[in-house]
Amino acid sequence: MRILVVEDEHKIAHALKKGLEQEHFSVDVVYTGTDGYDFASTGDYDVILLDVMLPGMNGVDVSDRLRKDRVDTPILMLTAKSELEDKVAGLNSGADDYLTKPFAFEELLARIRALLRRPPVAVEDELMCSDLNLNTQSYFVSRNGKEISLTRKEFALLEYLMRNKGKILTKEQIITHVWDYDSDILENTVEKYIGYLRTKIDSPFPKSKKLIQTVRGFGYKIFV
Ligand code: CA
Repeated sequence: MRILVVEDEHKIAHALKKGLEQEHFSVDVVYTGTDGYDFASTGDYDVILLDVMLPGMNGVDVSDRLRKDRVDTPILMLTAKSELEDKVAGLNSGADDYLTKPFAFEELLARIRALLRRPPVAVEDELMCSDLNLNTQSYFVSRNGKEISLTRKEFALLEYLMRNKGKILTKEQIITHVWDYDSDILENTVEKYIGYLRTKIDSPFPKSKKLIQTVRGFGYKIFV
């Protein structure tokens, strides 16, 4: 899981990065609101930690602009005690939660984990690739009208591929988004699960096109 930290106080920013990396998150740090906005709108983050008082653009404006651009990455706002009214503004601007500084690191971790468990704001229930359908609410998967039964992990992998259909996804991206930070990932784990998926969604349908494609040297993609 990737976290973007937007915090202008270098000491706090580095402490957060170090602590979160020890918890197996991958962490990028930027120090201005403008950089925060740029990174958050172009990078692939699972959570954003956003300070309110920032040079360039303040945290409330960053959050506001991101939501207007339909970037729905969960945002945890960090506010100083003296900025109580910012909390209200922050939550109105589309932040998902806030934490008052100074805070205990354990509390921050708990909030981050809660946000990671939350489903994205704008989820499509029904994903479709060619004649393959996946319903994220009922967990029903079918191809050409025929039900396909998947394990939880296979489902998560297929959902991630389908949400990004047509895009090449690297193994690292797949691991980051599909596996927990504390699971044991072996080098061939992704290949193994791609293999399981193929035997369930491609092999039984010889007359349909093969949906899961290996892009040698890059990763995998699912056809639109
Ligand atoms: Ca600040």
